[in-house]
Amino acid sequence: MNAHNEKGFTKRPVGRFAPSPTGRMHAGNIFAALMSWLIVKSQDGAIILRIEDLDVERSRSSYADQVCRDFESLGLTWDEGPFYQHDRDEAYQNAYQRLVDSGIVYPCFCTRADLHAASAPHRGEKLVYPGICRNLTAQEVEERSANRKPAYRVRVPHRVYELDDLVQGKYAQELESECGDFIIRRSDGLFAYQLAVVVDDAAQGVNCIVRGMDLLVSTPQQMFLQEQLGFEQCDYAHVPLMVGERDRRLSKRDRDAALDELLAVYKTPEGVIGHVAFVAGLIDSDEPCAASDLLEGFDVAKLDSIFPDKVQILWR
Ligand code: GLU
Repeated sequence: MNAHNEKGFTKRPVGRFAPSPTGRMHAGNIFAALMSWLIVKSQDGAIILRIEDLDVERSRSSYADQVCRDFESLGLTWDEGPFYQHDRDEAYQNAYQRLVDSGIVYPCFCTRADLHAASAPHRGEKLVYPGICRNLTAQEVEERSANRKPAYRVRVPHRVYELDDLVQGKYAQELESECGDFIIRRSDGLFAYQLAVVVDDAAQGVNCIVRGMDLLVSTPQQMFLQEQLGFEQCDYAHVPLMVGERDRRLSKRDRDAALDELLAVYKTPEGVIGHVAFVAGLIDSDEPCAASDLLEGFDVAKLDSIFPDKVQILWR
């Protein structure tokens, strides 16, 4: 399943930057992109840039343009793209239809309130869909459709999906009990992130996915969709999240982590990359450093021991 071995990868890795254009970049996005670039470029691989503007309400084309310029100035180069999710509706529709044809998709009429009433998730825990609409009769579907537009879920098997993450090591999830049937199309017709990301990664030849630790729990869902759609599985590296304080990921309110502020303090793109790399523990001193300088001495085989805390890195 995994294309890497102790020395590196057996296939030429194709990685990606997949920013959501909902704001200016901050240290967390920069760190994840830097890690993707280092992992792929240290193996002579290629990077594609994909703008994840699936969520039309929150995405802005001005942010997308800014993100491209920011990657460029930070020396985080890409080889293909940018590709935009807003151009990909037909591909998502085709994949969706294939899943419908295979009989695993069903309409779900539950509201958020229904779901929260059905189970009380603990903070940070994944909400497991309890299967309320899993076995509705055709008549029930018809009746409910009169009042509400459904979302569409895929029926997941009772099966453990396991991966050997380059940073996190082995991770396993039993899909039915730890996730439950999940949404691939929202009630407003938009395709869900889980479906879009799998379709895009396959179409764009991505085989090495490097991203924040918060998405590790989604990976088994994506592996399931890859399997259903006949796509190849990928290598994964889920890197620690940059946090403002314990358990709180960086966001726009952390002004000191925003790229414009970082540029004001550290003066140059190299100053910013150097500081991010220093905070992450990639280098020992807080000095300007180009992304390409970090390639020297970067060893993908040691990824599982670079970070003392694999889950969080406290931003400073
Ligand atoms: N677009 C997502 C984000 O910016 C990343 C999704 C992914 O890497 O799969 O958080």
